[in-house]
Amino acid sequence: MTKYREALSLIVEELKKLSNETERVGILHSVGRVLSLDIISDIYLPPFNTSEKDGICISYNPQITEWDLVGEITAGNYSDITISSNQTISVMTGAKIPESADTVIPFEDLNVIEDEVYLKEGAKVKSGQNLILRGSIIKQNEKAINKNTFIKNQDIALAAACGADMIEVFCKRKIAILSTGDELVDIYKTPANAQIRLTNNSTVLSLIKSIGANGINLGIVRDNPELIRKSLEDAFDSEADIVIISGGTSNGKHDFVKKVFYEMGVEIKFNCVKIKPGAPTIFGTYLTKSGTKLLFGFPGNPISTFLCFLIFIREAFSMAQLCQPPSRIDAVLKNKIRKKGNNRTFLLGRIIYNRKIKQYCVFPTHTWFSQNIDALSKSNCIIEISAGKMNLKKGDTVNCIHF
Ligand code: AMP
Ligand code: MG
Repeated sequence: MTKYREALSLIVEELKKLSNETERVGILHSVGRVLSLDIISDIYLPPFNTSEKDGICISYNPQITEWDLVGEITAGNYSDITISSNQTISVMTGAKIPESADTVIPFEDLNVIEDEVYLKEGAKVKSGQNLILRGSIIKQNEKAINKNTFIKNQDIALAAACGADMIEVFCKRKIAILSTGDELVDIYKTPANAQIRLTNNSTVLSLIKSIGANGINLGIVRDNPELIRKSLEDAFDSEADIVIISGGTSNGKHDFVKKVFYEMGVEIKFNCVKIKPGAPTIFGTYLTKSGTKLLFGFPGNPISTFLCFLIFIREAFSMAQLCQPPSRIDAVLKNKIRKKGNNRTFLLGRIIYNRKIKQYCVFPTHTWFSQNIDALSKSNCIIEISAGKMNLKKGDTVNCIHF
């Protein structure tokens, strides 16, 4: 059995080896993508000395507290006026400030009577106040956003100000999902006797989207080794870099996935992980004409598939800087947990912030009945319990991974 951390590093190692193609996208399509080139500013930011307040600009002289108003500059409308130390210009926030001024006094500290401006009693002026110097945010040709940054909404203003209307990003990873099972029918069908709807492909495809990758739906394959092999060969011929096969990964009579992987010559990196649930997870690589593909086998029950995607694929993507890291929160446990065995355990939970006690609290929602997709729907985090810890009491602190 492979330890969880070791399994993760094996995945990250292979993920990093996949070819890194890049593409240029419009700035509005860059959120959620990973920068493949630094964003360099083509101008100074701000491009000129500017005011952060509505007020007057002066050439600072501690002796002077009244000025003659000789002009006005608003944002976008500059007039090149030179002032002496007893002259001033009214300026608006964001206005370009002339070279001869070095300080801005806000109107709330001033009395303005026609063309005369007086500093109010008690108002203090510091040399350089409220003036933002040209290039004080970013210099021309300076790096504004680093390569490998996962672009978020809050990066867009900076990228736009640097003139980056097109942005160079890594191509999205393509991940295919295939489900095994004689019992599965497509979701638009009504299950007949002994059948259930195929839920894992939809779950996995929506999770793939959430980590900024592209999903490929390969449907269902029956529990038959030849058919599984054929479907995997088709998957490897597709444009997917990563193939996930769900179900049939244990050692039951109708679990053929591991056997097929070995027969096909998949280089298995691990085939059983010391975790619960999700122990029968398989990971390997497969060499094709178009390069190496990564292959995952996840246990088919819907909660295991969901958890396995997050704890293996999302976690590895985040470690390889391919998606935003999930937030981890320490929370107070609101109900006891009886752990099964001493493996590292991942349980579903619902985390909330309790304003009264100013703490996060987590309610376990896991039921050990891995088909309980209603419990999954009521959850928003995974409670991670390390291998050494056994049962947990109400009031214990646990680490939760938000989703
Ligand atoms: P398996 O890992 O193939 O033994 O499947 C474990 C359980 O998960 C079985 O009860 C299956 O019916 C269910 N299951 C397997 N694959 C899927 C799937 N793609 N969608 C929904 N349920 C599944
Ligand atoms: Mg099965």
